[in-house]
Amino acid sequence: MGAFFSEIDDEAIKKEKDKARILRKSQWWKRRKSTGVCHYCGEKFKPDELTMDHLIPISRGGKNNKGNVVPACKPCNNKKKYLLPIEWESELASRDEENKR
Ligand SMILES: [Zn+2]
Repeated sequence: MGAFFSEIDDEAIKKEKDKARILRKSQWWKRRKSTGVCHYCGEKFKPDELTMDHLIPISRGGKNNKGNVVPACKPCNNKKKYLLPIEWESELASRDEENKR
């Protein structure tokens, strides 16, 4: 089947999910989470309130590696889910602007 957009098949997604599970258990991730800082809003949380989030979603070709995985708080995670990727990006950009002021 030559579906144009399905470069990532189910098998690849399953592999990435396995990798995510391993990464989530790693010392690296535990240390990362123990800082308690959400990557997106910069607020402090309890480590167990932070979830593992992918900068580039797996469904869009993102990988489970240290460069693509960040701790995110639940409000940010939920917001990211219901916004379109482009809306989320402009949301982040506007936050950066505020931080620079
Ligand atoms: Zn946040």
